[in-house]
This record gives sequence, structure tokens and C-alpha cells, in this order.
Amino acid sequence: MQRMPLLLFDLDNTLLPRDAAFRAWAQDFLDEHRLPAGDLSWFAAIDGGGYVPRSTVLGAAKRRYGLDHSLEFLLAHYRRGINSHIHCPAAHIQALHSARAAGWTLGIVSNGNTRAQLEKIRRTGLAPLVDGWVISEEARCVKPDPQIFEIAAERCGVPPTHEWTSHTWMVGDHAPADIAGAEVTGLRSVWLHHGRPWAEDGYRPTLSAAGLPEAVGLVLTARNAPGSRPHQRPGSRGTFATPASSLAPRTSVADGRHPVSAAAASFPQQYATLSTARPAAPTG
Ligand SMILES: [Mg+2]
Repeated sequence: MQRMPLLLFDLDNTLLPRDAAFRAWAQDFLDEHRLPAGDLSWFAAIDGGGYVPRSTVLGAAKRRYGLDHSLEFLLAHYRRGINSHIHCPAAHIQALHSARAAGWTLGIVSNGNTRAQLEKIRRTGLAPLVDGWVISEEARCVKPDPQIFEIAAERCGVPPTHEWTSHTWMVGDHAPADIAGAEVTGLRSVWLHHGRPWAEDGYRPTLSAAGLPEAVGLVLTARNAPGSRPHQRPGSRGTFATPASSLAPRTSVADGRHPVSAAAASFPQQYATLSTARPAAPTG
């Protein structure tokens, strides 16, 4: 059977510097309303890296500053601001081109609002650079549910049969969604640490990297060893994390059977599967 290597990416703070776009919007907001520049840290704290609902963030800002604007007005302001500031760094685009040139199929797996995430994928020019994408709202399931990764594979033209996990990697910055998701699906993973220490018990990424170009480089290098977890090598560019196999019982990824690990039993409630529906891929 022909092997179809698949490389899946998270969107926010993986392919796109989403937090930088948020800070730029927050700075504009403070300037426009003649508010203290020092409140940028307040916005960054309540933002929660994008994982706090926008209605919570904007509602809190409305109360904090006694604004007369409606929540809808603030949400529209926010969306326009994020869209005006979001971009895909040239080094990230080059990394995607390199992966494609090396024969990889590329996909995006994103938790979030369908409209907002689609706007980002299209505005930043990512759409023609990947083979497919899945967004949790339209898919009605969220990372780390293995189903969303299987949907991504299907939409990228890679049948999620019993062997697909042995030649699929997931790259992301959010441990509970991206790395635990890869773990319970049976995928190898690269965690973008962005300078943070690993803080999760029970599961670990296969590799870690400082940024997307480095992560893609590691995956392309590791491709020569499909179906097995890479081992630490002196002088390697990335940080090799403790293999998950040493932390929790699991079946071999090469078997194509989904592993069972401690991560599966420790999901936060908000990551529970919402539905088994598998709608068609987004178009346009
Ligand atoms: Mg992310």
C-alpha cells in the first residue's frame, strides 16, 4: 500500500501568530478609547490565549471601562481588528512549501468558531497551501477527540484506515488539545513550546520545537523512520521529549491500533465530543 505522509497543523499560535494579532487589536482599542496603555497586560490576561469566549473578554472590557457600545459592536470591532493584524509569516509559508515539496499532504485542525477561523485561513493565504482543514464548530467535535483528526485526514484525501496514524504527525502549541489529541489518536507530535516548560502529566509530545519552521524541519527529518518514535540524537536541532511510551501503556503506533494512555482518562470536560456527525469539508 502506498504511504501517504500527512502533516496536520493547529492554526492559532502555530501556523498564525494569533496572540500578536490580539495584542495589536487590544492596543488599537486602548488608543481609540484613550485608555491607559498599561492595560494591555489586562487584555492579555483575560484573553487566555484565545481560549476564553469572546463574549466574556469583551463583556469584561465593556464593564471595566463603562462603555456604551453593545457587545455586538465590540465583537465586530474585534473581528475587524484581528483580521487586519493577522498574517502568516514568510518563514511559515516557506516551511509549508518545503513540506509539500518533500511529498507531504498538509492539513489544518483548529478548535474554534467556523467563520472566524475560515476568515483567518483565507485572509492569510493559507487556503491554497494546504489540502484540507477542519474546524471544531462545523465538525461538531473538538481536539483532542480523535474523530476530528480522522475527519482532517479524510478531507485531505488520506483514508483514516488502520495504518494512517503511522505516517501522520500533528504540530501544535496547545498541550491539552494538540498533543493529548495526537497521543490518543496514535499520531506523533511536535509541541511548539514558545519558551514555556512542559507542564502536563500523563502524556508528552514526541518532539518539541521553538517555532513552526523548526517543527517542520524535525518532521521532515524524522520521515525516514516512519512508524517508529524518534530517539534522541546528539546534536539534533530540536528538543526530544520523553517518549510517551515511557509514561503510559500504549500499543505500537506502527500497529495502526489506537493507543490507550492516561491522557484518554484525563480530558477536561469541555473537550468532550459533541456529536458523531461528519459534515462535508468547507468550500470556497
Ligand atoms: Mg493553538
